[in-house]
Parts: sequence; C-alpha cells; structure tokens
Amino acid sequence: ALRRCHLARGFASIGYHFYITRDGEVHICRPVHQIGAHATGWNDKSIGICYEGGLNEEGQPADTRTYAQKCSLLDLLRQLKTDYPKAKILGHYQLSKLVHKACPCFDAKKEYQEL
Ligand SMILES: [Zn+2]
Repeated sequence: ALRRCHLARGFASIGYHFYITRDGEVHICRPVHQIGAHATGWNDKSIGICYEGGLNEEGQPADTRTYAQKCSLLDLLRQLKTDYPKAKILGHYQLSKLVHKACPCFDAKKEYQEL
C-alpha cells in the first residue's frame, strides 16, 4: 500500500530508506547510497526511516510505536550510527524550524542522543 501511495505521488519507489511495520520488521525500501524522497531539502544528506503508524484513533499525530518497532528502530539506528558515526539522529520536524510537520511524533533527538 505504501509503495502504491508513493508511486501515485510521483516517486520512483517508496521514498524512505527503511520502513518499520508494527510487527517490528524492518523493510529495506531503497539502498542507503540512493537518494531518498522523504524530507524536502534534506534528501541528499539523510537516510529516511519511517514507522507504520503515527496517528491515534482520532487521527491526531501520536507516538504509536509498538514495543517491537522501538526495538527494531533502536537496532537499526545503532547499526547506522556505526556506519555513519557523525550522523545526527533527528525527527522530521527537528530538521529545521521551517518544517511544519508532527512526524515522527516523538523527540528522536532526545531519545537517541546517547547513540
Ligand atoms: Zn515526515
């Protein structure tokens, strides 16, 4: 469904590099050396990770990560941090004050500052 949605939006494929479904499975959507389509202005210098969810029952932005998603995300970030030690881990809305988005609906900068 995600691939169909992104193709409809004109992307070559899923815009993120990684997509983590509720069951904690990490889906590799495009190789990290390939430019992403997930954060305007930052695509050429970032790796995009998305988790399935992000809205509560009322359709409001919310941190809906399952325990499995949190575990997989932490594993993935640790691995990427080994490959890219200087990389900053930021939520989409933390890239710039000009980004008016709620995603990923949690403070990624704070949560992963020790990595
Ligand atoms: Zn986003």
